[in-house]
Amino acid sequence: MKGTNSGLKTAVILTIIILGLMSALVIINNMNSETINKTITSKAPQTEGQPTLGKADAPVTIVEFGDFKCPACKAWGEAIFPQLVHDYVDTGKVKFSYINVLFHGEESKLGALAAESVFKNSPNEYWDFHKELFNEQPSHDTLWITPEKILEVGRKFKNIDIEKLKTDIEQQTVIEEVNNDLELVQKLNIQQTPTIIINDTKLDDPFDYEKLKSLIENELEEGN
Ligand code: CA
Repeated sequence: MKGTNSGLKTAVILTIIILGLMSALVIINNMNSETINKTITSKAPQTEGQPTLGKADAPVTIVEFGDFKCPACKAWGEAIFPQLVHDYVDTGKVKFSYINVLFHGEESKLGALAAESVFKNSPNEYWDFHKELFNEQPSHDTLWITPEKILEVGRKFKNIDIEKLKTDIEQQTVIEEVNNDLELVQKLNIQQTPTIIINDTKLDDPFDYEKLKSLIENELEEGN
């Protein structure tokens, strides 16, 4: 009888030890995955509520941090963006978001307010308005983003409510959206425009299309 009892005790103790080890392993595993998730999300910009071009379930997200007042952003929009859209956005592999940066003071802010207003009130016109506003950027540095210029660009679109656009830029009714972008700029320590981020990887030279392509291809392979 004694022998059976001690055998039972040993079995119970062993079971407790095994259960303990198993829960310890589960906890360690969870800690690991949490750490990994945090590292990724802290580097990849949140694109919720941002103008986004492409299929919502596209496997790769590219974000441009740009400024309507920045000549390199205009050049990027003309030299790289159309190719990127043709090769990857239209094919459903990439979705593209634009986040405002205000490196050039009041003019940047006015451009961002206008863009946020159009995105909020006429989201279907957003990307064309975005392009038209960049088109107005002169080749020499001068004051050009004015309320008059914004309304002039807005009037090219029959679906943009000009009175609403006017109120939004005059009363800064969309300032919260602009401030959200500003927060992202600070959080990700954006130092130059345009800054291009592919999922969580920054493209060192935004004009290096071959490198951009290889980063996209890497992400597509990793996702499979
Ligand atoms: Ca925004």
